Amino acid sequence: GTTRERTLRETIMNYRHAFHAGNFADVIKHIVLVRILTYLQEKPAAFRVIDTHAGAGVYDLGGEEAARGGEWLTGIARLMQSRFSDPVGALVAPYLDIVRAFNPQRGLLCYPGSPLIARALLRPQDRLVACELEPVARKQLIDALRRDVQANVVDLDGWTALSAFVPPKERRGLVLIDPPFEHKDEFERLAGGFAAAFAKWPSGCYMLWYPAKRRRATDDLARGVGAAVGGRADKCLRLEFSVAPQTPDGPLTAAGLLIVNPPWTLKAELKLILPELEKPLGHGGAARFRLEAVGG
Ligand code: SAM
Repeated sequence: GTTRERTLRETIMNYRHAFHAGNFADVIKHIVLVRILTYLQEKPAAFRVIDTHAGAGVYDLGGEEAARGGEWLTGIARLMQSRFSDPVGALVAPYLDIVRAFNPQRGLLCYPGSPLIARALLRPQDRLVACELEPVARKQLIDALRRDVQANVVDLDGWTALSAFVPPKERRGLVLIDPPFEHKDEFERLAGGFAAAFAKWPSGCYMLWYPAKRRRATDDLARGVGAAVGGRADKCLRLEFSVAPQTPDGPLTAAGLLIVNPPWTLKAELKLILPELEKPLGHGGAARFRLEAVGG
């Protein structure tokens, strides 16, 4: 078949985000997402969010896949029960409020994915484009966004969309690149895809998510992204977090984010937020966070 058919087949066979929805990595990714979008809201000019690997949009935490994984129990469930200092409480409130809005009843029954979280923060002038290749997830996402004129779900390969959709006509906004990392070459694709998009739209904000299992791969990615942005340390933040020692066959316990053109307030915000996530997200006090600027 065509490359697209092959990608589709591999995607369907291998990846279901429902297993991981609301886990530690989702929580941190989505807190950062919300901080960036909250910053973009400070100016009245319209922004656009481009979510290249969007997922199903809403995850049923009682559903078979989420229940079997149970990863949300040590992620969003812990966070909802945590007490934060006043400044950190204020910084994470917009995120927790969105999660609560999806759970009007008592307890936690569902978890919103990145496109629904982004949608919750769009003002009337803002837009969202979400790519999802897997038909079942895409159908769920379309249903979740029900005839929303501000949000567009597209049946397009996220890597193709990445270069096709930048720069957006608003010339302000965020690109979230959150691939499933099921293919061996996903790190290279991420570095290459980002570099091409950044060349077309150097003023955009970008968030790249990656699993932190192999140090070589993650350092190469950070170096590649640092070089693509011209080696300027203020252009890229690298956040890595580990919640437990990694075991060979266990679930992922460490992940990272590269944030290009971060809001100038983000680093200081994360320095406040991250220490207060160590206890709720760490397994037995084993959480570690690393936040640094990436040079060339
Ligand atoms: N960004 C989502 C969130 O934070 O809630 C999670 C996304 S999940 C890690 C990755 C998604 O990418 C999966 O739903 C998968 O079906 C989809 N996918 C895989 N390959 C794709 C491709 N080439 N283009 C677009 N979507 C793809």
